[in-house]
Amino acid sequence: MPSLKNIRELSLQELKDYFVSIDDKKFRAMQAYEWLWKKNARSFSAMSNLPLALRDKLAQQFSFPALETESTQYSSDGTIKTRFKTHDGHFLEGVLIPTEKRETACVSSQIGCSLSCKFCATGLMERKRNLHFDEIYDQVAIINEQSEKTHGRKLSNIVFMGMGEPLLNYKNVLLAIDRITSPDTMNMSPKRITVSTAGVAKKIKQLGDDKVRFNLALSLHAATDEKRDQIMGINETNNIQALVDALNYFYLHTKNDITLEYVLLKGQNDSLEDAAELVKIYRKIPTHLINVIEYNPVAGIPYTTSGTDTTEEFTRYLANHRVNVRVRHSRGKDIDAACGQLANKE
Ligand code: SAH
Repeated sequence: MPSLKNIRELSLQELKDYFVSIDDKKFRAMQAYEWLWKKNARSFSAMSNLPLALRDKLAQQFSFPALETESTQYSSDGTIKTRFKTHDGHFLEGVLIPTEKRETACVSSQIGCSLSCKFCATGLMERKRNLHFDEIYDQVAIINEQSEKTHGRKLSNIVFMGMGEPLLNYKNVLLAIDRITSPDTMNMSPKRITVSTAGVAKKIKQLGDDKVRFNLALSLHAATDEKRDQIMGINETNNIQALVDALNYFYLHTKNDITLEYVLLKGQNDSLEDAAELVKIYRKIPTHLINVIEYNPVAGIPYTTSGTDTTEEFTRYLANHRVNVRVRHSRGKDIDAACGQLANKE
C-alpha cells in the first residue's frame, strides 16, 4: 500500500482544494486547518467539530504523524524537560526555561547529531534522522501549552539549541519557523527566535540569501583554528575565517542579531591568552554579544567546568576590552536538561 500523504504538508489553499474535490464545504478546510496548526490536535478523531464521517475519511486518505509526549521532568529551578516520541519510534527532547521576564523553548532539530563536538552529550549519539518541520512545530506548540498551563503566559522566545545541528536540517528548520511565525498559527515574531549553529559557513550565507528574519548564534568555543580543531571537528571544513566571512555576509543581507557562544572548558580555552584571541575575533564579526557559557559536565566526557575565579577573570578581561559579555549559568542541571546534556537518558 502506498504510504499516505502527511496532511500537514498541505497549505491552506491545498486543503481547501481537497475539500472541494470531495464535495465538502470549504469552511471545513478552515476548521481542519485550525485543528492542525492552532488548536494542536494530535489525531483526526480529536477534531470534534468535524462530522465523524469526515474525520474517518481524512484518516483514510492522509497520515497525521504528530509528536507524542513520552514523559516530562521538572527541575527544582522551574525548567521542564519533555521527552517526545515520533511516529516511527524515535525519541527527542525539548526544554521550557522560565525566567522572570521570559518563557523560552529550547527545541531539537535532529534526532541525534551528525557532528561530534567533543564536549557535547548529543555528539556522542549517532544521527538517526532529521526532524520534519511539523515535528519541530509540535515541540514548540506542546512547550507553549506547558508554559500557558504552568505560568499562565505564552512562550516569549525560541532557541534552536536542543539536539542536532539546525543548519544541517535547513529546509525543515526554515519551514517550521515559517509556520511558527505565521499570523494564522502562533504568530510569533522572528526576532524572538534564535538558531544556534556549530558553524556551517555555506548555510550561514544561504540564510543571508534567503533574507531570514530570525537571529543567529554561533557556537565558537575557541578563538584559534588550532584549538577549535581539537574540540569541534566541523572546524576542519569550516574554519574561523570562513565563519567570520559568512557571518559578515549574513549580517549585510539581514541585519539580524548575531551572538557568539563560548563554553568555558577548564584548562582548554579559558586562559587570558584565549580571551585576547577572542577579542580579536569579536572585532571582526558584526555581533553585539558574547555569551560565556558555564560547561555542564557529561558522563564519559573528560572536560570539566572552569572555576568561578577563572570565569570571572576571563569575562572581566573581555569587558575591559569593550566586549559586551554575559555569563550564562545553566538551568535544569538536576534533570539533565542543560545545554549539551540532551541525550535521551532514561
Ligand atoms: N548544534 C547547534 C545547537 C545545539 S547545542 C550548535 O552547536 O550551536 C547548543 C549549545 O550548547 C551550543 O553552543 C553547544 O556548543 C553548547 N553545549 C554543548 N554541550 C555543552 C555542555 N556540555 N555544556 C554547555 N554547553 C554545551
